[in-house]
Amino acid sequence: MRQFDYSTANDVNRAIATVTSETESKFIAGGTTMLDLMKIYVETPTQLVDINALPLSQVEAIPNGLRIGALARMSDVAAAVIIKERFPVISEALLASASPQLRNMASIGGNLMQRTRCAYFRDTAFPCNKRNSGSGCPAVKGEHRMHAILGTSEQCFSTHPSDLAVALVALDAIVQVQGPRGKRSIPITEFHLLPGNTPQRETALEAGELIVAVDVPDAPYARKSHYLKVRDRSSYEFALVSAAVALDVQNGKINAARIALGGVGTKPWRVPKAEAMLRGQSVNSDVFRQAAEVALEGARPLTQNAFKVEMAKRTLVRALETLGEIG
Ligand SMILES: Cc1cc2nc3c(=O)[nH]c(=O)nc-3n(C[C@H](O)[C@H](O)[C@H](O)COP(=O)(O)OP(=O)(O)OC[C@H]3O[C@@H](n4cnc5c(N)ncnc54)[C@H](O)[C@@H]3O)c2cc1C
Repeated sequence: MRQFDYSTANDVNRAIATVTSETESKFIAGGTTMLDLMKIYVETPTQLVDINALPLSQVEAIPNGLRIGALARMSDVAAAVIIKERFPVISEALLASASPQLRNMASIGGNLMQRTRCAYFRDTAFPCNKRNSGSGCPAVKGEHRMHAILGTSEQCFSTHPSDLAVALVALDAIVQVQGPRGKRSIPITEFHLLPGNTPQRETALEAGELIVAVDVPDAPYARKSHYLKVRDRSSYEFALVSAAVALDVQNGKINAARIALGGVGTKPWRVPKAEAMLRGQSVNSDVFRQAAEVALEGARPLTQNAFKVEMAKRTLVRALETLGEIG
């Protein structure tokens, strides 16, 4: 591990000022991914600013919704009554993530900022456009069973790994940010970026910006929401595919639907066209299958991950059937 300076911050402005004072400076929260990446030289900060003492751990109701502090731990958020009752998809996505020990340490802000699990990204013996711009992407001709089928570019095929982000994208959450130039709100659908020609740039955060909270609007469909994750083993594993779904059903008709997919996109993958298709329809499996076909329309699999197309469709249908109580 490269040598680095370490300090703790007791107020938000000081944390931001300290991180901004050095180019290769980073925040550290739970450290569950930052330290891993430092040990394998993928992250090489010269300075770490520990933000755990900042007062950003609250999970609370706000007018028209919910505010989750950036330092709230994944396990606390998953267990919060307000989340389980009013936003079950968030609780389910968190409980399907990592392991209990990791969830006890890991923070909400850190979860949204975690980096891809692409094996080439995590091994400095290989080139990687995300890690070292312009060096190439070995995944195309190499191992890519776990890689993305949506939102890829010639430069990068890696999937976004966060389960929570998929649930938050389905619910139109807003990421509240504070930085050297003040505060701003970023819709979560715009927070993670497509790789395009700049795969090294993964989020809309500017240098020195700190996530302070995530706000989730209290829409009627949020209470009837669900997360389904399919993976190689039933615990402690990232998604092959996942679906976050929410439905507002009135008199047997779908008034509003929200759908996001995980494990298939280079960012958490919202599918507004499939949502629009469901609006006004009756709750039934044929309609859900049609929506799934629409959701995967733009999929471009590589040779080893074509199975994800059908798996994602079936996962989405099953998640919607579970919500619609179709046995
Ligand atoms: C073995 C293993 C399995 C896992 N499985 C899953 C899984 O199935 N699903 C899943 O979703 N995740 C999974 N994870 C990832 C895990 O959820 C993340 O490691 C964790 O959420 C990161 O949070 P942290 O607080 O530890 O972040 P840290 O490691 O402290 O930081 C991570 C990054 O976020 C930045 N950061 C932290 N807080 C902020 C903030 N408030 N504002 C701006 N930047 C910030 C840091 O600078 C750093 O770049 C797994 C991790 C491991 C090690």
